[in-house]
Amino acid sequence: MHKKLFIPGPVEVRPEVLKKMSEPMIGHRSKDASALQRRISDNMRKLFYTESEILLSTTSGSGLMEGAVRSCTAKRAAVFSVGAFGNRWYEMAKYNNVPADLYEAEWGKPTKPELIDEVLSTGKYDLITVTHNETSTGIMNPVDEIAEVMKKYPEVVYCLDTVSSAAGTKIEVDKLGVDICITSTQKAIGLPPGMAICTFSEKARERAEKVPFRGVYLDLLALYKYIQKKDYQYPSTPSLSHMFALDYQLDYILNEEGLENRFARHISMAEVVRAWAEKHFEVFPEKGYWSNTLTNIKNTREIDVAALNKELGARGMQLSNGYGKLKDKTFRIAHMADMQMEDIKELLSNIEDILKL
Ligand SMILES: *Cc1c(COP(=O)(O)O)cnc(C)c1O
Repeated sequence: MHKKLFIPGPVEVRPEVLKKMSEPMIGHRSKDASALQRRISDNMRKLFYTESEILLSTTSGSGLMEGAVRSCTAKRAAVFSVGAFGNRWYEMAKYNNVPADLYEAEWGKPTKPELIDEVLSTGKYDLITVTHNETSTGIMNPVDEIAEVMKKYPEVVYCLDTVSSAAGTKIEVDKLGVDICITSTQKAIGLPPGMAICTFSEKARERAEKVPFRGVYLDLLALYKYIQKKDYQYPSTPSLSHMFALDYQLDYILNEEGLENRFARHISMAEVVRAWAEKHFEVFPEKGYWSNTLTNIKNTREIDVAALNKELGARGMQLSNGYGKLKDKTFRIAHMADMQMEDIKELLSNIEDILKL
């Protein structure tokens, strides 16, 4: 039996989108391939509220995270982490020989704008990374306040991980002053895993020109230059299947559901899950910073999460245990992509039934 996924990626994919993944191939050097990538880029610009160029990568989101820190750090990177994915960004810098320092908040707490200001005022850094929505803790960082701080540091390239939030909550890239905003297909966009997407500002491009060793496959400047030279084509062979599906899904998001409706639906689902969590458990992260796309619930009743998931599995559903060191201490319910309120209510009533709440 298929288990409906309430995990924070991969997510349930609409059958129409899955069908697009199985369409016949086209030549990746054809005019059709150019038109396809151009359409995806134009629509991603709308989704991200940006004028920046859009880069695609046939990797998961991690590929572009690694590419960003390597391609655009000339001096030193400050990595602000609020959990597992922020820490992974630091590892990427370190093992690519990119000078970097890690500033990690206690899990469940946000990246404070004051900390960013303090760190950048040293003048040591020319790139920062921030996690918008930390999937391991359920935190959504205060990016509006961080944007105010970043106005003081126009020379710093600002990279933002929106892997688990893009298309599920409003992210106005240009207004926020983000240079490289990264996401992947398998979370709130609602596609199978296998492709990553990012914005790439003029500032990021100018910086990358000054970085001598950017790698090859994940060199963001190379991706950018190829688009200009070859009319929106990808330098190697991209996952065309993902591009067919992404093109189709972006049209649905923008023109059928509508961005504002989509964001509102995510907030409504989040509100129901948070209220439920507060009634029966507690919400793990600090109040005021709760994610709109997933809720990390503190296991105050000390339930056996694996056993709960097994029972849910028999009923055709799956949620997520806590991540890493939060295993069994928390459990996570994703409310993202094309999931509907009925799905959430069905899950919650089944949990109540199993746990006899
Ligand atoms: C899932 C996730 C990643 C990793 O993305 P992949 O597409 O699996 O490489 C990075 N950051 C966050 C916040 C995520 O949720």
